[in-house]
Amino acid sequence: MNYNKKTVKDVEVKGKKVLLRCDFNVPMAKDGSGVITDDKRIRAALPTIQYLLDQGAAVVACSHMGKPKGEIKPELSLKPVAARLSELLGKDVIMADDVVGPDAQAKAAALQPGQILLLENTRFEKGETKNDPELAKAMASMAELYVSDAFGAVHRAHASTAGVAEYLPAVSGFLIQKELEVIGGALANPKRPLVAILGGSKVSSKIGVINNLLEIADTIIIGGGMAYTFSAAKGGKVGDSLLEADWQDYANEMVDKAAQKGVKLLLPVDTVIADAFAPDAKSQVVKNGEIPDGWQGLDIGPETVKLYCDAVKDAGTVIWNGPMGVFEFPAFAKGTEAVAKALSETSAITIIGGGDSAAAVQQLGYADKMTHISTGGGASLEFMEGKELPGVACLLDK
Ligand code: ADP
Ligand code: MG
Repeated sequence: MNYNKKTVKDVEVKGKKVLLRCDFNVPMAKDGSGVITDDKRIRAALPTIQYLLDQGAAVVACSHMGKPKGEIKPELSLKPVAARLSELLGKDVIMADDVVGPDAQAKAAALQPGQILLLENTRFEKGETKNDPELAKAMASMAELYVSDAFGAVHRAHASTAGVAEYLPAVSGFLIQKELEVIGGALANPKRPLVAILGGSKVSSKIGVINNLLEIADTIIIGGGMAYTFSAAKGGKVGDSLLEADWQDYANEMVDKAAQKGVKLLLPVDTVIADAFAPDAKSQVVKNGEIPDGWQGLDIGPETVKLYCDAVKDAGTVIWNGPMGVFEFPAFAKGTEAVAKALSETSAITIIGGGDSAAAVQQLGYADKMTHISTGGGASLEFMEGKELPGVACLLDK
């Protein structure tokens, strides 16, 4: 996939109506009060919005929220987003009552340069997730240029993320531009050595990432729950740890493939085990592959931490996806924290992908020490898998 895409800076936006796809899929309070519990995604969209408004564009913003499945669900309305966006921008945000209906059309037609309109939840329209050309055409008819800044949604070929680009010139906003530059750069032409740290819960959810990174990394580090499948595959005892028995052959194949390719593959040498999956479980450290029955591995052990931190010291680039342990329990967050700290201390380009990994780095307080934390969970995984992202492929090449 070509990552070198035109951005808002490569086209004339002054006086133009711009359809801007944002990722305003923010978490809302469960009580239906319309309170946004984390506005990070709205704030992340501000640089592109502000730039377009400052340049004299009229911005028709849109986004999905949740999964209304083509029905109008008042609790998934973007009205609270419009209110918060208005506070953050310090200016009015006009809210449309529909996506491409008469209200949206009329408000878009009346929109002046420097003004911003927010359409309703794109998934209130059945055609959105089906990438219906009629819906895409209707959305496109409200603007003269399409700007995509919803990196979290680029792995989906929906009407508002890809379909509209059939009818309008399409470029990226600053969020997508940075994702493409940093992650795309690391995948296509990494500063070496490239170290990939892979963890998280399951081997099965990371096969694509492991396969792709095996082709390009110099070192691969395995941690988290998936490490126990590798351990069991070598005949180790894993007790009650997370184990995907069906993936043991695959794990062995990966070890062999790494050896053939000259990729250094590091596996845990020790592990922190617990007598229950609980924050206050009794715990101890044992050698890898020696977990007694009734115990489960919830973090990498101290020797492994040393080994892994050492391996990233002289890296040129580190790509990290998947926590080293159950970081949600402070007693089992030490491995993840140590790796985050090691990354914060290297001069390497450090890239964090994956929703839980990004949350872990943020929660542990290392977010501002990383080169880049991807704003897309699923999208960043598919990116690291080397898959074509429809919401990126549809943008104009530079
Ligand atoms: P990401 O979202 O960054 O791609 P994953 O979804 O693959 O990451 O994995 C994150 C989850 O893996 C976390 O909720 C974490 O608690 C869990 N996890 C990590 N190590 C273990 C382990 N040893 N046992 C069980 N769960 C684990
Ligand atoms: Mg996850």
